[in-house]
Amino acid sequence: MADTIAKETITEVGAMKRSHYAMIINGERVEGSAGQVFDTYNPAKGEKLATVAKANEEDAEKAVQAARNAFDYGKWRKYPVGKRARVLNNIAAIMRARFKELVEIEVLNSGKSVGAAQVQINQSIEDFEFYAGAIVGHRGDVNNMPYGFFNYTHKEPVGVCAQIIPWNYPMMMAAWKIAPAIAAGCSVVVKPASLTPITAIILNEICHEAGVPEGVVNTVPGSGEVVGDYLVQHKDVNKVAFTGSTPTGRDIMEKASGTLKRLTLELGGKSPSIVFEDADLEAAVAGSIFGIFFNTGQSCEARSRLFVHEAIYDEFMEQFVARTKKLKLGDPFDKGTHVGSIISRDQLETIHSYVQSAIDDGATVLTGGKEMKIEGFENGHWYEPTIITDVTPDMKAVREEIFGPVVVVEKFTDEKEVVKRANDTEYGLGSAIWTTNQARATRVAHQIQAGIVMVNSPFSAFPGTPFGGYKQSGFGRELSVETLDLYMEDKSVLAYYGNKPLNPFGV
Ligand code: NAD
Repeated sequence: MADTIAKETITEVGAMKRSHYAMIINGERVEGSAGQVFDTYNPAKGEKLATVAKANEEDAEKAVQAARNAFDYGKWRKYPVGKRARVLNNIAAIMRARFKELVEIEVLNSGKSVGAAQVQINQSIEDFEFYAGAIVGHRGDVNNMPYGFFNYTHKEPVGVCAQIIPWNYPMMMAAWKIAPAIAAGCSVVVKPASLTPITAIILNEICHEAGVPEGVVNTVPGSGEVVGDYLVQHKDVNKVAFTGSTPTGRDIMEKASGTLKRLTLELGGKSPSIVFEDADLEAAVAGSIFGIFFNTGQSCEARSRLFVHEAIYDEFMEQFVARTKKLKLGDPFDKGTHVGSIISRDQLETIHSYVQSAIDDGATVLTGGKEMKIEGFENGHWYEPTIITDVTPDMKAVREEIFGPVVVVEKFTDEKEVVKRANDTEYGLGSAIWTTNQARATRVAHQIQAGIVMVNSPFSAFPGTPFGGYKQSGFGRELSVETLDLYMEDKSVLAYYGNKPLNPFGV
């Protein structure tokens, strides 16, 4: 079956772009058991892109059983680790060969700029290469034991994993999850976001072409409340890896408790960025613009709360506003476009309601603050890059995740005070520090309550860097060697090798 998928679609150039996408269960492309489909859109134009088979509980059940069967009786986890690594490298090689098509589809389904999609598809490829290498060196440990005992830890794949994906990085979040899971020997059922299901389906097809046996990777597009919920509570699912909003993460944690599932929760954020008076102004301005407006601000670690030292505040803000006004929004396929569209009308309205709430609370919008109409993309969802000042810590726009191209800026006076204010949030995902003082950078980095600290860097993550949150931003780390352990159990094997038989009861 897996070969059928490969021959029919992937090996033929242009065949990734279709008018309809089926789900993938047990290596087969199948329609939903109730025959239902849903439409998926190009948000930049607000027009229909394709139909997608819609899974229900019955389909989710079939996918779990396919994954269970592949895990319990299949060959994947029994392969020599080098063979699994080779297949992961094959996946990366196919993705690299079809890079342009993958980028095109990601842009069409998400509205992001081509530059952003290129970076994300490239990182998705590198994830598979990274885990192909990492798994080969990943091993258990041996303990020195007294009294004739020998103890070692044997690392075993955790089992069947449900992997629930958000819409903001459709391919990259799928790659962050699938790559370490299958490297570890697990089987997975992927539930892509309903707004952006296409590239996760294609990634599943590529896995089969690359040599992943049927049932090891399955993809069931459908609603979170139906399919996601079913997977989270299923007794045959051993682990849930979820990326999405904090409220959904809480719900999943509660529902997964019934079966005591292993959990990784990568949730929302409201990440601070601190620009000290000794920062390289050029780098800090450019990095702060990228930090919030990359991926149209629809990024979990978007640096959406900016703190600028009072001594450089005016100069920084003049440049920050002027250069933000130069950002180009428009045709996502135009290489000159910096900022793409918003994912949906609902999301755009949510973003605007936050901006309006800030205005109502007395804040000042320095630039942006409204929807845009772009020629040729009039029905798309576009929002101006927005900078807000005169905010107070209690405002809704300062406390809650907006998940759009909106940054709130505050002035500060000293290091101790700004660390306290930066930490005054329920979230703890990303953070950035801009300073040329290395001692200060280290000192502040160690006091920030966040899983990720960027020092003089606009970028937050590469394969190999642990990615995950503190506090309400969740727990568990992705993208790193540590992630492999979250897809494995440590089995402790204790063996007695003494000559004298043991008789503890002496009977
Ligand atoms: P969301 O929580 O609405 O949905 C995420 C996924 O969960 C979707 O596939 C959805 O269908 C599914 N889902 C919804 N309800 C469910 C339920 N009851 N049970 C099981 N699954 C369910 O989030 P979103 O709007 O798609 O994504 C945006 C959010 O994701 C933001 O909060 C963002 O910060 C977060 N995010 C976090 C990271 C990270 O690494 N920490 C990365 C990207 C996005």
